[in-house]
Amino acid sequence: MITRLLISLLLFCSNFASAAELTDMETRWLTAGSAMLKYAKKDLKLPIDIIVQPTGKPTDVPLALGFQDGRCKLVLTMRNKTNAEDVLSSVPAEQRALMIEAMFAHEVGHCWRYVQGQWHEMPAGFEEHDHAAHGQAQAQAQELEQTRREEGFADLAALAWIQQRHPEQYGIVAAWMRQVRQPSPSGAVVGSHTTMAWLQLASSGDAFAAELPLFEQASSLWQKGLLNQDARQDARQGMRQASLQR
Ligand SMILES: [Zn+2]
Repeated sequence: MITRLLISLLLFCSNFASAAELTDMETRWLTAGSAMLKYAKKDLKLPIDIIVQPTGKPTDVPLALGFQDGRCKLVLTMRNKTNAEDVLSSVPAEQRALMIEAMFAHEVGHCWRYVQGQWHEMPAGFEEHDHAAHGQAQAQAQELEQTRREEGFADLAALAWIQQRHPEQYGIVAAWMRQVRQPSPSGAVVGSHTTMAWLQLASSGDAFAAELPLFEQASSLWQKGLLNQDARQDARQGMRQASLQR
């Protein structure tokens, strides 16, 4: 049953012809993500190809999403890597499949944004922030912010999926994601995956509007987070202007 499922998932896989060639870890991850992948392909009709990398760089994350020629490439890089499951080190063995499922939902959330042509775009009615810096520094700051916003969306997409499919385990997954997204101890650097502003809006699964389609639920909460950030930005600018006028 699992083999048949994996073969059907791997129909689009360019690197391997059969599920028999997958490692145990790859099989475990694809099995944990299979319900999400089925939903993405069958219900949402998202163009997703699964790529299993035979080798990778030590810095490669186990699961990543790229976009090429109008198709999403979900890339597994875990072969010959001893640190592939480090992100799960704090998670009890029996809960790991659940977190892997959330990771697949996160990546599919990225794919959804790509396919909608909204990657790095602000929703209607929102504007890009002006950055104090100029030139290259400004471009970098802007790109970091765009990436961080996409990560925020994808984290909410993952949580919306968990709330829909495993509501009784929502709290465990949300707590794990907050732990993974914890800012660096120095707190000085806002990284591309600093998504806490959005995770805090979703500490309970009730935060999602269950009547909406899955990714619309994520989108609606995500926009609430963007509004909060705008409000903080306006407040900061107000303070800056006030101090200039003094
Ligand atoms: Zn991501």
